Amino acid sequence: MVAENAKSIQPKNEDERGADHNRHSSAHVWKSYLYQLQEEAPKPIMVECGPEPHPDCPDQYSIEYHGAISRHMCTALLTQEGHYLVRESQKPQDCHTLTLRFGGAIKHYRLYYDNNLHYVGEKRFDSVEDLVADGLVTLYMESKAGHQLRSMATTASYIDSPHYTLSRPARISTLNNKHVIRTDDTQAHISKPSSSLSSKEENALILPQVLHPEDTQPCDQPQTSQRPHRFIPHTFTGLHWCGFCGHFLWGLVMQGVRCQDCFFKAHRQCSLKVPSDCCPHLRHLHSVFGADLTTCIRSGGGGSNSDSEVPWVVEACIAEMEARGLTMEGIYRVPGSQDQIDALRLAFERDGAGAVNIGERSVPDVNVVAGILKLYLRLLPLPLITTNCFNQLCGAYSLSDPEARLLAMRNALYSLPSAHHATLRTVIQHLARVCEHSAVNKMTATSLSTVFAPTLIQTSASHQHLQPADLLALANSSQEPRVIECCLIYHRELFKKES
Ligand SMILES: [Zn+2]
Ligand SMILES: [Zn+2]
Repeated sequence: MVAENAKSIQPKNEDERGADHNRHSSAHVWKSYLYQLQEEAPKPIMVECGPEPHPDCPDQYSIEYHGAISRHMCTALLTQEGHYLVRESQKPQDCHTLTLRFGGAIKHYRLYYDNNLHYVGEKRFDSVEDLVADGLVTLYMESKAGHQLRSMATTASYIDSPHYTLSRPARISTLNNKHVIRTDDTQAHISKPSSSLSSKEENALILPQVLHPEDTQPCDQPQTSQRPHRFIPHTFTGLHWCGFCGHFLWGLVMQGVRCQDCFFKAHRQCSLKVPSDCCPHLRHLHSVFGADLTTCIRSGGGGSNSDSEVPWVVEACIAEMEARGLTMEGIYRVPGSQDQIDALRLAFERDGAGAVNIGERSVPDVNVVAGILKLYLRLLPLPLITTNCFNQLCGAYSLSDPEARLLAMRNALYSLPSAHHATLRTVIQHLARVCEHSAVNKMTATSLSTVFAPTLIQTSASHQHLQPADLLALANSSQEPRVIECCLIYHRELFKKES
């Protein structure tokens, strides 16, 4: 493994450049523009009929019910975006109408109630407020990104899709399954790189023509019959992204469909484009890498103690880096072996984060641990420093008064979702400790910031389908390393808890 280290700082060979390209393309598989739109969409504001429910109020409604009021009256009552009320329909009788204000116009929908659920279309909701919230998101998406919503299924390519890109190491491992990693056998696996396949063989094996009828059969031989996915509408909790087009699955309920066998999740129209290559054994993957950070923490993916908002992978890698990486020359700049990183990632995906040993005996090259940490951060669908927060940070960073600048930067960081803030604080504090050893490891705040900025911010997304918000971020992209460097140098002030 010492030899491995020495090799990794040599100029890269063709295969390693190929691996770099893969890493680069898988770094930008997720697109957060639709998430930003959902955040911006107007929120529901109930217009009350009074302090008490209307005397004719049906059981399923409360003070949002206004009885038989006219459309004209509605216009007078609904003055703000997102205002809504329920009224008796003018005809037919005994029906109800949901009236709301969106885009400066008043809209009316026939409102139904059945089995304790409210609906105006296909999606059903526990409350009228949820229905309106989801409806406002859908109307807002349509008004801002209608063309994109209609074209994303047709412009996406399956070979470049997140589902395919991210499951590639697992598919190759399955192909080559005598090398499959186990936590008790990590070293045995990672010393047997999957690059023993020539790139031509590898491509032939991983193209999505390879199918298999049962879970237990590996995707190692082309089959004549293809196994289709079994997609059904699904309500996702937390934030999720489409495995086909990479865009956010927006809305409050039934945001998309999920395959019952392999858990492939997608927009409904995207699912129609997915080839029949269902691999049910992949269903347990992707629960660690490429999952939304807040969703991961809420579902119990936090680190050492129960209320930790820092994911286990991040905590464990940082502890390991601090135990044996702080004085290593070029730490975080020298790449680890891509095959070993892929194998370790697969172990995390397969065995669950807490079950993987990344100690020196299992993973002798600490650059592999560094690589896993960077990969984890780079594969977050919503970057650790979100686009909104980054734009605020850039605004704050441009202030000339040093005190005002730090205060504004601190406030910008506090605007992050709490799991993002907690994880960023942990990462930045760790990098500051790496800096303290810069005389030995040769990694200054400037060099660490240059290495980490694209991992933490992710604004240089593939330029093909840039959205307005991405363009703004791109315009600021030269600021990325400087903003990170400032966070590193002033981390004590910036992450100080409010007194
Ligand atoms: Zn499937
Ligand atoms: Zn999609």
